[in-house]
Amino acid sequence: MTATGSEEKSLNFETRAVHAGGHPDPESGAIAPPIHLSTTFERKADGETPHGYGYIRETNPTQERLEAALATLDGGAASLAFSSGMAAGAAVAQSLRPGARIILTADSYYSFRVLASDFLQNWGIECQLVSMHRPDEVEAALARPADLVWAETPSNPLMNITDIREVAALAHRGGARLLVDGTFATPALQRPLEQGADIVLHSTTKYLGGHSDVQGGSLTFLHKDDFYERVLHVRHILGAVASPFNSWLVLRGIRSLSARMRMHCANASAVAQFLASHEAVEMVHYPGLPTDPGHGTASRQMLAFGGMVSFRVRGDRARAIAVVAATRIFVRATSLGGVESLIEHRASSEGPLSKVPENLIRLSVGLEHPDDLIDDLRQALQGGSESGAPS
Ligand code: PLP
Repeated sequence: MTATGSEEKSLNFETRAVHAGGHPDPESGAIAPPIHLSTTFERKADGETPHGYGYIRETNPTQERLEAALATLDGGAASLAFSSGMAAGAAVAQSLRPGARIILTADSYYSFRVLASDFLQNWGIECQLVSMHRPDEVEAALARPADLVWAETPSNPLMNITDIREVAALAHRGGARLLVDGTFATPALQRPLEQGADIVLHSTTKYLGGHSDVQGGSLTFLHKDDFYERVLHVRHILGAVASPFNSWLVLRGIRSLSARMRMHCANASAVAQFLASHEAVEMVHYPGLPTDPGHGTASRQMLAFGGMVSFRVRGDRARAIAVVAATRIFVRATSLGGVESLIEHRASSEGPLSKVPENLIRLSVGLEHPDDLIDDLRQALQGGSESGAPS
């Protein structure tokens, strides 16, 4: 794509996703971007780097293409690619100073809560957990000054929806930055920087990569300000960079993101509706259902509702595990965002400290035919009850 920066911004998301960071290789004309594996780059005798690259931990051409694409898709001034979503989140925390205070979504991704309990205190950072989808709780927490409000919407795995605009206003009034983990939504469905957030985080391991074969994370910043510089410094010195090959895989995943997300959303919506009507299901957590408490907010801030669905079976832990055990198409595995549908008993995956209800099952709805997915869940819900579990 040869469009200039401002022309590029006026293009539709789908067009940008196909072309961003995808200029033909100047040396060969190759349409698919080259993977530059080189760890070091030629310098002049005085150390100057005529091509703009010095050493792989600082940056490299393949990672730079990915970052250009992510910045465009998220609508930010600059992006940084990391070795994982956790590394991206940790780099933000490591960029805060001792004495800083974070207000974190209480039902955020499990490992971020472990980051808070096992690391932040050692780094002299205080962390308060709040129900981020309840603005009154956020406001009360901000009665004491904070540096960072860390939201995750939709949240993993309860699918709670935080009102980004409202929480951004509260955070800014309290002098804090707002970070939004938008992993479940992706920039195809939700662009927090357009709604008041300062930083957006993605685990690119999920939908952006899209094929369950690459690990990565990203941060996109609304402004290329001093905080961006601090995070860049953390990545450069502490070293949680994305490898060239992983950058290339995520960039390739981005090319089909819009098309995949459309199908993920359609399939998840069909699955959620089926589950909501099933007598063996106690509750479905999916913001696309009009009965979901987050539906109103999600309809305002998301273009569609995503491919993740959680549901609670009628019964206990054993009953939920029996249903998970009985699927034939849904593969039993954690993670999300690949083409294949996955199912997991979330409390078991998170372990003994999990706060997830024991009867909750999380689905990453893939790109199979929705009728096959629904048939699979129907037989699993039926099979589970035939195995004698309580109703
Ligand atoms: N954010 C969310 C919402 C996640 O679900 C995950 C992982 O599942 C992460 C961040 C962490 O990403 P990674 O596994 O790439 O470190």
